[in-house]
Amino acid sequence: MAEQGQDNFRDTIGTLNEEGNRAWVFPKKPDGKWYTYRKYVSYILLAFLLSAPFIKINGNQFLMFNVLERRFNIFGFPFWPQDFHLFVIMMLIGVVFVILFTVAFGRLFCGWVCPQTIFMEMVFRRIEYWIDGDRGKQIRLSKMPWNAEKIKKRVLKWSIFFIISFLIANVFLAYLIGSDQLLRYIVDGPSKHQSTLISLLIFTGVFYFVFAWFREQVCIIACPYGRLQGVLLDNKSIVVAYDHKRGEKEAGRAKFKKNEDRPSSGKGDCIDCFQCVNVCPTGIDIRNGTQLECINCTACIDVCDQMMENVNLPKGLIRYTSEDNIEKKKKFTFSPRLKGYVAVLGILTAVLIGMLFLRNDIEARILRLPGQLYEHKTDNIISNVYTFKLVNKTIDDINNVHFELLSHKGIIKLVSHDDFKIEGQGLAEGTLFIEINASALNGDKDRLEIGVYSGDDLIETTTTAFLGPRSYK
Ligand code: SF4
Ligand code: SF4
Repeated sequence: MAEQGQDNFRDTIGTLNEEGNRAWVFPKKPDGKWYTYRKYVSYILLAFLLSAPFIKINGNQFLMFNVLERRFNIFGFPFWPQDFHLFVIMMLIGVVFVILFTVAFGRLFCGWVCPQTIFMEMVFRRIEYWIDGDRGKQIRLSKMPWNAEKIKKRVLKWSIFFIISFLIANVFLAYLIGSDQLLRYIVDGPSKHQSTLISLLIFTGVFYFVFAWFREQVCIIACPYGRLQGVLLDNKSIVVAYDHKRGEKEAGRAKFKKNEDRPSSGKGDCIDCFQCVNVCPTGIDIRNGTQLECINCTACIDVCDQMMENVNLPKGLIRYTSEDNIEKKKKFTFSPRLKGYVAVLGILTAVLIGMLFLRNDIEARILRLPGQLYEHKTDNIISNVYTFKLVNKTIDDINNVHFELLSHKGIIKLVSHDDFKIEGQGLAEGTLFIEINASALNGDKDRLEIGVYSGDDLIETTTTAFLGPRSYK
């Protein structure tokens, strides 16, 4: 080990060797209670991640992040650019929720929920174990010259990795452009949508690179959330931790000798078997304490429990616990910091729910045509010209749409039609004139209230400015 007090492990990361080159990690295949739970969770999450873009609620894709057309669906709720404030609040809630969870439960998200870990450990790594074998066989294979066996295994593994990366890229595209559009492109054939095919191949290349080569480096080097651990965690946070009090005791850790009576020997319970190091997918030694590289995957808990069972010592030498619990036997409590985060989360969630309830299905905007003043017509009629934009956020068409003046007596004339239709999730734009008798105006700049009707039903109201001659007030 790194004996207590020797902190040289902090000078480097577990996946670099002394020359600064990549030290490839060959983690031992995890097995045990926690790994089984994580497998079940991963099946549910994989099913969700792969199916979410194909699930529809009221005709809306369950999750969609169409950045190009600026259309987002979250849990079946469509969000338009006009709803950007709602989207921002949702993102803030997500960030506060993750911070809250991290302060309380460390990197639980990384080990159990993060798509990088789920795909890496539960899909790609398991295929690797199936083809290459466990840690020992993988190390032997990597050192082996390029003979028939190695070529066969590598080609098989890399081909399967490529196919899965291609499938993930397709699902990723369904999140981006919408599953309906993706399926349409597939039916049309790739030759008709070459730019989409190129994007798909680029995504495939990125996923292949990440899962076949970059791997744990994503968590250690690239992930911003991982880098935040230093500020988010405190001594009360529950993390995967080695109980150094129990593991070291007065005489320190030591290898286990057959039939020895460890509890009365003064030695720590750690039998220095290095299994927790061998099983770690980020290549660290958890006995050095909480480290940036640890993704809380629980593999070391399982393997250490097995070792404890083998030598008849209590399980839990590595477990989910806090530094305070190890040092002072303190149980988990809600710290003021946690209470503060819960309060912020509660307020943001209440604001979001309120805004969602107040949100209209129709968004109407009527703006005066830039550069135009007003026209003074016969019979003392003042006319202003406007452009309008109506967004239908529902999936149903809205028919017989027209405008009426609510605040003043006057008329609204649409250019080129009397009424019109807005298709579901569609947009209607156009030009209109508003004519008001000058005697009905209150000043040279009146605020008008305009109703948007579908047939006889008032579906939205909006306001706009109306300019008139100064002399009338
Ligand atoms: S697996 Fe447990 S007993 Fe073995 S070295 Fe790690 S902490 Fe010590
Ligand atoms: S130290 Fe343990 S929990 Fe952390 S990444 Fe390594 S095996 Fe997983």
